[in-house]
Amino acid sequence: MPLEIVQIPVLNDNYVYLAREPSANAVAVVDPAVHEPVLAELKKRNWTLTHILNTHHHPDHVGGNMALKQATGCRIVGPKADAERIPGIDVALADGEQWTLGDEAAVVFDVPGHTRGHIAYWFQRSAALFCGDTLFALGCGRLFEGTPAQMWHSLGKLLALPDDTRIYCAHEYTESNARFAVTVEPGNETLHLRYQRIRELRSKGLPTVPSTLGEERATNPFLRPMSENLRMTLGLLNADDVSVFAETRRRKDTFRG
Ligand code: ZN
Ligand code: FE
Repeated sequence: MPLEIVQIPVLNDNYVYLAREPSANAVAVVDPAVHEPVLAELKKRNWTLTHILNTHHHPDHVGGNMALKQATGCRIVGPKADAERIPGIDVALADGEQWTLGDEAAVVFDVPGHTRGHIAYWFQRSAALFCGDTLFALGCGRLFEGTPAQMWHSLGKLLALPDDTRIYCAHEYTESNARFAVTVEPGNETLHLRYQRIRELRSKGLPTVPSTLGEERATNPFLRPMSENLRMTLGLLNADDVSVFAETRRRKDTFRG
């Protein structure tokens, strides 16, 4: 049976996720920015928290760690490369390792770039990817502790996953990402259609997350440095992919739209 996944919107634009593996009744929370809404959701569903899965050390991803551990006795799982910055960590994971929730395995990817030690969890059987602040719907994380080459390499690992993989990212940034995306790849008709759907959803206060990797592959400019239209807009027709990615990221950093 696939994971049951519950999306909990917290703070301004963060998404915290509960993932329950039904056969073992194991329940993980991914990137708990805060603890109260998580405890409330667990109580409402009569679920018992067994694990916290952290993708990286930022406060809006680990802020609820200690209070949740204290309240539930759960175990905390996070990136080995940044173990000293993950409050309460019990299990430290690195690239290619497997970790199981109940009877469902997740493959862990090291995806540095946004931070030095950032990991993503891929639950293959459920076609679910928890990627924190690495890949967003129509966007990618800012490069606080990494280089464009590192981030492009990290995104390459995610690009190798199947198109039907659902992308459970940690923020609802999609509409402003879309506003930027249409300026750098104006010739992408699929992107324009997606932008329309995103505006409709957001005008009703509905989430645009999760998307699928297939949609991102077709429309997310940060995954499309090979696009001729994008390259033309950036004036980088003959540059390598890393340079095109780097310029896209640089323009987004200063985009006001
Ligand atoms: Zn972050
Ligand atoms: Fe974040």
